[in-house]
Amino acid sequence: MQKKLICDFCGVDDSSNNPIISGDNAAICQSCAKEAYEIINSHKDETQIDVMETKSKVNKEKENISILTPKELKAILDDYIIGQEKAKKVLSVAVYNHYKRIFKGKSSKDDTELQKSNVLLIGPTGSGKTLLAQTIANHINVPFAIADATSLTEAGYVGDDVENIVTRLIQAADGDIKKAEQGIIFIDEIDKIARMSENRSITRDVSGEGVQQALLKIIEGSSINVPPKGGRKHPGQESISLDTTNVLFICGGAFDGMKDIISKRQGGNVLGFNQQKKTKKEQDDIMELIEADDLVKYGLIPELVGRLHMIATLEEIDEDAMIHILTEPKNALVKQYSKLFGMDEVKLKFDKPSLKEIAVKAIERKTGARGLRSILEEVMLDIMYELPEYKNKTITITKDVVNKIKKPKVA
Ligand code: ADP
Repeated sequence: MQKKLICDFCGVDDSSNNPIISGDNAAICQSCAKEAYEIINSHKDETQIDVMETKSKVNKEKENISILTPKELKAILDDYIIGQEKAKKVLSVAVYNHYKRIFKGKSSKDDTELQKSNVLLIGPTGSGKTLLAQTIANHINVPFAIADATSLTEAGYVGDDVENIVTRLIQAADGDIKKAEQGIIFIDEIDKIARMSENRSITRDVSGEGVQQALLKIIEGSSINVPPKGGRKHPGQESISLDTTNVLFICGGAFDGMKDIISKRQGGNVLGFNQQKKTKKEQDDIMELIEADDLVKYGLIPELVGRLHMIATLEEIDEDAMIHILTEPKNALVKQYSKLFGMDEVKLKFDKPSLKEIAVKAIERKTGARGLRSILEEVMLDIMYELPEYKNKTITITKDVVNKIKKPKVA
């Protein structure tokens, strides 16, 4: 016998003007279904409005990028980066102009178009190029993405597509395209994608030029379609579009051998003794004379050089600077370790010769100030291991501790 159909919600019988729909385990009449639909719909509206409100609130907060003056920007950089005065100034002015152009350029009445001024930082490895770019981005609250030019390839080759840099920027902006479009991209090792020039013997083949062309496209500003999660583009795959017109590009590179190119242009002695005899200061001064043509000679394509309007050179980190880097910046390594020790109520001291020794070791590694962290980590490991046992004591690191000859002084 067929079971009589009753609405599980209101209990009415099945009828032609209020028919019942039944599944395996439940039944609902037309009027209850209608009511349920309306309830669900009204809820959906509420949640959607909620989400939209939150999104626009977040966007407003995020849009609130403060335009600091060049002096304010440099003061921030001074807190974190030792030396590199010229680079700090160039970057502060470039960033100031860039964001002024974005936020105030539109409202100006005349039709003079303000071109964006991307920056090229030239300096040895570990001299603070990435740190400069990262510090600026953090403090003006814009998304920041780093790419290594050596890992980049033209689309279709094995490696990292140039366009993936854009995806990284979108990720850094938590998916907020508008915010990403005002971000900063740092491309490191730009010198390694120079095409071969007759002046230098580099192992890279001509494909460097292809990567430069691909980079040029995003640096000069265009609408780039990227897969939302990165990776290769496939036909039919969903993609998002980002306009790089207002993205600030900061490129960095060591440009080994550049001094020869500059000296040669100036009619100087290229490979002779004179060059080698030059003091560090004289060598740094030569780098400051760099011109766009020198970059083209080095192997960058003229179009790309033309997009990197502001050039700043960074000095090699010498022993003094190493010691300052260890102790002075806001997040200096010595300060970080002191804080860690303080949490265990242990006082940490480094005597002067110990700091000098760490600096000397870092210079030997030829990785600039980057070497400081790993040297210090090696020195501190055993001490950190026993740290809780030194409560209320003062530990002093000496030169012998750095050289692992002695244990630290405990008092
Ligand atoms: P680069 O990009 O020039 O190769 P980085 O900016 O990555 O070098 O520097 C590596 C690390 O060395 C930084 O994270 C920082 O700890 C330290 N460092 C390098 N240069 C400086 C500097 N001028 N002032 C303070 N710290 C520095």
